[in-house]
Amino acid sequence: MTAVSSIPGGMAPGGVPRPASAWSFGGAAPVSDGLDRAPAVIGGVADLEWAAAVDAIRALGPDDEVQLICHVNPDGDALGSMLGFALGLRRLGLTRLRATFPGDFDVPEPYKGLPGSDLLVPEHEAYRAPALVLIFDVAAESRLGALVELLPVAPVVIVLDHHASNTGFGGINLVAPRAAATSVVAEALLTRLGVPLDAEIAECLYVALSTDTGSFKFDLTTPEVHELAARLIATGISPAEISRRIFDTRPFGAMKLSGEVLGRARLDAGAAGGRGLVWTWATQADLERHAQKPYVLESLIDPVRSVAEADVAVLVKEMKAGEWAVSLRSKGAVDVSKVAVALGGGGHRLAAGFTGHGSPEEVVQQVKDLLEGALTQ
Ligand code: 5GP
Ligand code: MN
Repeated sequence: MTAVSSIPGGMAPGGVPRPASAWSFGGAAPVSDGLDRAPAVIGGVADLEWAAAVDAIRALGPDDEVQLICHVNPDGDALGSMLGFALGLRRLGLTRLRATFPGDFDVPEPYKGLPGSDLLVPEHEAYRAPALVLIFDVAAESRLGALVELLPVAPVVIVLDHHASNTGFGGINLVAPRAAATSVVAEALLTRLGVPLDAEIAECLYVALSTDTGSFKFDLTTPEVHELAARLIATGISPAEISRRIFDTRPFGAMKLSGEVLGRARLDAGAAGGRGLVWTWATQADLERHAQKPYVLESLIDPVRSVAEADVAVLVKEMKAGEWAVSLRSKGAVDVSKVAVALGGGGHRLAAGFTGHGSPEEVVQQVKDLLEGALTQ
């Protein structure tokens, strides 16, 4: 097999990756966006892991099969980082690329038509024996469904992620808990591979970055995040058009559904040692009544978490009878990833989740019981 060694279009002579100490800034950057860069590193990922990932990808022949996977119920960061990276691999000359996620092959409406979507296949069409598996935004094997069976089969498994709760289940783990999104890690690896950003890759990564930072509002929205956004925008993408499509376009029925779900919210000001908890729930019947798909519930945690009287916000979403996807958010007084991990899930300090069982009240009671033990202040 012929190793992939240069990029069509003649970037970075010989396809030489940039020095291991510079992940996105400085040096002979292939991205000419006019920014004056200072060296920066992504905390948590050892140089050896970067080098191993670069070597594994460079060792591939153009016809080797590469399977990309993101987490079940994919969000903007999962799909955006996976497809953006897949397009980067295509630029490197790799021809056998498939991208998938476990569960129903139902891409949420806002993410349909992302560049690279032609690479998306349902999970049963994933390569059976790929030369490389790349996994995006997945903190634990449990989020891979049946695709977990590919892990022992593939000679190399590279995990790109930013969850502090990541279990290190990959062969090569590029896990950066201080990164705002998995797309930050994906861009860093593309840079090390000498792949230049173009408008298609940038659109995917911008969708990923803006969704996981809540449009550049959340914790971890660092100067580096804004600099990355600037470089993405410099490729010619339109943040206004992308944001309207991703955040500000929902069916009429979704608005009516939101009104009902928010209208039934409950406030328990005494929970979490007096820091307060606000919560609400949405059932399958709610979705059916308004003819809506589950993705319309994803952003509903945002108005819930804005309640001033509560540090903790919980949204309980019915996946199937008696099974709930639970979203947890904190303003800082509680480490909700501790609560989520204790209940079999995972996530970040201020945003986490788990799968709950029983009634919504029972699920929320389980959360309440763990809050005082997860106080940070
Ligand atoms: P969201 O509430 O937006 O679905 O998820 C918030 C964060 O918690 C994300 O980082 C997501 O990966 C993580 N998360 C949500 N649900 C689960 C779960 O069931 N298991 C794990 N391990 N992480 C989850
Ligand atoms: Mn993410």
